[in-house]
Amino acid sequence: MRLPTHKTKIVATIGPSSRDRKTITALIRAGMNVARINFAHGTFEEHERTIHLVRKVAEKLNIPVAVLGDLPGVKIRVGELQKDQVTLRRWQTVILTTEEIEGYDGLIPVQFKDFPRLVSKGDVIYLSDGFIALRVEEVREKEVVCKVIVGGTLYSHKGINVPNMRMPVEAITDRDREILEFAMEHGIDAVGVSFVGSAYDILDVRKFAEERKGRLFIIAKIERPDAVRNFDEILNAADGIMVARGDLGVEMPIEKLPVLQKKLIKKANLAGKPVITATQMLESMTAEKLPTRAEVTDVANAILDGTDAVMLSEETAVGKYPVDAVRMMARIARTTEAYRDSMWSERIVQWKMSELKRGIPRGSRVKDAITRSIIEALNSIDIKYILTPTRSGETARLISRFKPKQWILAFATDELVARTLMFSYGVYPFVVDSTTEDEILTLMTGLGVVKTGDTVLLTKGTPIGRTAGTNTIRIFTV
Ligand code: ATP
Ligand code: MG
Repeated sequence: MRLPTHKTKIVATIGPSSRDRKTITALIRAGMNVARINFAHGTFEEHERTIHLVRKVAEKLNIPVAVLGDLPGVKIRVGELQKDQVTLRRWQTVILTTEEIEGYDGLIPVQFKDFPRLVSKGDVIYLSDGFIALRVEEVREKEVVCKVIVGGTLYSHKGINVPNMRMPVEAITDRDREILEFAMEHGIDAVGVSFVGSAYDILDVRKFAEERKGRLFIIAKIERPDAVRNFDEILNAADGIMVARGDLGVEMPIEKLPVLQKKLIKKANLAGKPVITATQMLESMTAEKLPTRAEVTDVANAILDGTDAVMLSEETAVGKYPVDAVRMMARIARTTEAYRDSMWSERIVQWKMSELKRGIPRGSRVKDAITRSIIEALNSIDIKYILTPTRSGETARLISRFKPKQWILAFATDELVARTLMFSYGVYPFVVDSTTEDEILTLMTGLGVVKTGDTVLLTKGTPIGRTAGTNTIRIFTV
């Protein structure tokens, strides 16, 4: 077998442009590592088919692919529109209504009954990730009368943001619970929780899953000022995070995004939890065969910031060139990673160590000390692969946070654990019957990954199954 050519993970949203077998096959071949389903759109029937197809194709190609499902949460959205779209012109008056109607030119349905009670005269309402702006003129019982300040074409189900609006409801809705049931029943690996405000929102989802004996890898979507403020506790409660720049760029001053992205990524790296950078990464590829220079640079910069994964939304869900978009991501990742690998040096290692020492309290865990030693070893010995048996995936994630140039080959007996490693940079998971050294080496040499003469670093927890985790490193030549 051959390992992928890129270590950054590629998350692609599956939708009308990409949910057929042929496209899914092409997406996986092109380098998609995580198939994302946005439960805010489409039907359960469609999603069931998509999950099933991704699983089948991945199995046939023998390439690990994780399935991530995003819960809509309390995101307020536009309802159905006649012809699926309307064009709003500057200074035109539009009425947002909570009645369930099919919208047209001057009347737009909002899928949130309490909406008129949450806004007041003078507020600015943003539609469609901020592309369209309205100002509130008058609030009525079931209607909000607005003037269009920035016009544009609005499509059904697009998001609505009112910066700093107090959300009176909890982050997890009844609809989310229904979706969670569905997700667990169909074996989804991970869920993205939208509009997280505090750690409680994550704990709610975890509790719900655990009560049903389900296990889910929980990704907190950081898209509100509250989530930025409470980021540390959210990171602690979640298994991974998504820098959801779409809503974040409307809810916060847009110029704060670049620095914020760097800060959130760094914190997630320190904690050893995967981070996905999302929204508009190759946006123009929704309609064009090639991205803009700015987009390519954005993807590369996110990788250099330390993101584990980059994400495609419209580009693959509704775009004209879903496969080209994934291929482009893979090309950018490969080239940018080669640069990073060439920059590995004593100085970088020292810097990463001191970052880590500062980021993690003293007297902390054995596994932190072990992962630090691994980095030291990688720096002084010509090591080809890192072999990591892992029960929960944590050891692999803790090594991945250093973004080493060697592949981290992870071995798990649990399929779900293996697939959740598809979110972490440079980790390639294998599902095995047992994680003994013999078994792992036989598998790796059998597949032609590890060859005679290769020096490898193997992590262990000895005695197997009876320790708190990884506590040993062995370096040897096969
Ligand atoms: P989020 O805030 O979660 O990103 P979004 O509405 O921006 O929500 P994305 O997941 O970013 O949605 O997908 C981009 C667009 O692709 C959506 O706005 C929608 O128009 C379309 N889309 C995604 N999934 C589907 C689907 N299953 N069926 C139809 N359209 C879809
Ligand atoms: Mg989006």
